[in-house]
Amino acid sequence: MNPPGKRTGLIWDEPLLFELHPDQAPEPTLGARVPSPARSAQSAQPSTIPSALLRETPPRIPDLSEPEVLRHYSRLSSWNYGVDQGFYPLGSCTMKHNPRLNEAVAALPGFAFIHPEQPADQVQGALRLMHELARALAEISGMDAVSLQPAAGAHGELCGMLMIRAYHQARGDARRKVLIPDTAHGTNPASSALAGYEVVEVPTGPDGLLHPDTVAEFMDESVAGLMLTNPNTLGLFESYIAEVAEAVHKKGGLVYGDGANLNALMGIARPGDMGIDVIQFNLHKTFSTPHGGGGPGAGPVGVKKHLEPYLPVPIITERQGRYDYDWDRPQSIGKVGQYYGNFGVMVRAGAYIRRLGGQGLAEASRLAILNANYLRVKLRDHFHLPHPDACLHECVFSDKGLPSEVTTLDLAKRLMDYGFHPPTIYFPLVVHGALMVEPTESESKETLDQFIEAMVQISREARENPDLLQSAPQRTPVGRLDEVRAARKPILRWQP
Ligand SMILES: *Cc1c(COP(=O)(O)O)cnc(C)c1O
Repeated sequence: MNPPGKRTGLIWDEPLLFELHPDQAPEPTLGARVPSPARSAQSAQPSTIPSALLRETPPRIPDLSEPEVLRHYSRLSSWNYGVDQGFYPLGSCTMKHNPRLNEAVAALPGFAFIHPEQPADQVQGALRLMHELARALAEISGMDAVSLQPAAGAHGELCGMLMIRAYHQARGDARRKVLIPDTAHGTNPASSALAGYEVVEVPTGPDGLLHPDTVAEFMDESVAGLMLTNPNTLGLFESYIAEVAEAVHKKGGLVYGDGANLNALMGIARPGDMGIDVIQFNLHKTFSTPHGGGGPGAGPVGVKKHLEPYLPVPIITERQGRYDYDWDRPQSIGKVGQYYGNFGVMVRAGAYIRRLGGQGLAEASRLAILNANYLRVKLRDHFHLPHPDACLHECVFSDKGLPSEVTTLDLAKRLMDYGFHPPTIYFPLVVHGALMVEPTESESKETLDQFIEAMVQISREARENPDLLQSAPQRTPVGRLDEVRAARKPILRWQP
């Protein structure tokens, strides 16, 4: 393992464009300066714009050449870190490799250049792709019908909760509450609250699992349903899921399955067979679409038969080989996004699923589980594991046993000096100082071994030289930031 010092790269000092050479008089250079709007406005006299609307002094726009601008942004992009640069074990986010074949397929002119307002008979291929993707997702999850419209996981959750609401209302059964385990992802209570429900937190047991007896205690006729993710955010399979679902169904409630962790189950087990009534798929996590930079993603939602009438409109139908939109769905929760969703993401997911096939998807999940357990076993003597038994696709360490002056944040920051993206920290909330590692199936043993070595060295440094951790990162363009101040007092405007 290289000590961090050996990985030096070129790091430019990159001022703001405004600071490059402010107020410098425009002069012709070999770099063919970009004409500034101020100058072209002057040359475009006489103006047809009323003089009252014209500015008196030219705007302060940096006077730069094209190569200067290009280099500025290219250099800034090299300060970024993505899954194409290195290991990115961000728990709960499934930062896996996005095969380039899927990008090539999504860029085919027949997919990339169609317009959503083209009539159905001009875009039969695209409709067929969406129809087949919906069927594949239904098969993978054990659901009866799928809408591809929601634009993200949390959006799929909201649609699911609105469907649960519509289902109860159609039965004249207004219910007020939704049960959510204490291990849940933050979007679960947020989606329930947005759908108008009161959130009731249900404690998980010391084993990190949700128990049917506990759920039964909380269940009554005022509860619309339960929202949970399986495997849960501790990376543990909810082994009582069938009994938990039964306890909810017995009192007339429905079970929402947060499908963000499907990377542990694909091709192996189906949420629909475990009593889940509605689930979302995070195509940008499980089904290989670049993500992390804010989208676009897609969060299709799948339902069992009894929720099908409430799916968002339109649904894509197939009759005798002809595909069409079905808008005539009187019980639908309505339209939830522009057009039919983020089509490019659907193409990537469709290509990924077709290329891997059922066997390939199962193998991906198995490898994801194997990789997480490899890290778990190799690191368990160095970091405390609140749930030491086998995990699924991710495992969670705690800060127990670290020297008192060292925090989980320090560990995460120090990993950057070793060239790794830090894992998710301080989530799930039930684990003190949590460090949540999700390696995914696309990492080699060599990469995992490098990460393990870095973690082992950091655990040694934590004991022998805690200063190193507290002052990390040292090898990044900017060091430790004051995160509270950055959030509370962001500088949004350049001041000369
Ligand atoms: C990522 C995630 C979500 C939310 O999905 P987005 O696509 O980010 O909106 C919900 N639940 C879990 C467990 C997640 O990991």
